[in-house]
Amino acid sequence: AAPVLTIDGPGGAGKGTISRLVAERLGWHLLDSGALYRLTALAAGKHEVSLDDEAALAGVAAALDVVFLAEDGEARILLEGADASRAIRTEQVGDAASRVAALPAVRQALLERQRDFRQAPGLVADGRDMGTVVFPEAPLKIFLTASAEERARRRHLQLREAGVDANLSSLLKEIQARDARDMQRSVAPLVAADDAVELDTTSLTIPEVVDRLTELLAK
Ligand code: C5P
Repeated sequence: AAPVLTIDGPGGAGKGTISRLVAERLGWHLLDSGALYRLTALAAGKHEVSLDDEAALAGVAAALDVVFLAEDGEARILLEGADASRAIRTEQVGDAASRVAALPAVRQALLERQRDFRQAPGLVADGRDMGTVVFPEAPLKIFLTASAEERARRRHLQLREAGVDANLSSLLKEIQARDARDMQRSVAPLVAADDAVELDTTSLTIPEVVDRLTELLAK
């Protein structure tokens, strides 16, 4: 089977950017597993499925009609044929995603779809449970962290660049609430795999993290 590099960690630790850059450098495929949970939440909204109806949500997840496109470094995601790349990034969809992600039947419904991304020459898998549940046999597992304050600061900057004027202290509260929900849920809680390399990115730049991961892979 093709090699897999798993990159797990809490939201805002830089996983998305780092995973994309490492995949580009290696010429490997990329799995943005969080996008699948976000798409499930978005599709549930579209089809008026309640966020409390686990069986119906698992049906939505199993039937997700999604296409991931990579166009000159720009990732585009089509849900039922329509561009959902921006719609899935809102705080509201992120919040709904973390709720549907707490449901075992939804996680089960997305499991094989995630494993199908493992194709030659290799896969960089970004998420919360890539190293613990989806690809437990991956030869290199990374657990990326950063302090909640630093993650809130990064998110604030990102939003400002997108023209959104968010409140730093409410962002921090949202991040802490999301962390708590991801860590305390009964299925696939956010924890580092026993054999994961933990990397705290609080005081590292993006190129420093990418270099460090490339070094680890070369070992
Ligand atoms: O990483 P991202 O913020 O896009 O993920 C959205 C939500 O999906 C997370 O808050 C988390 O609850 C959930 N998720 C998950 N398992 C993954 C990826 C994301 O539970 N592998």
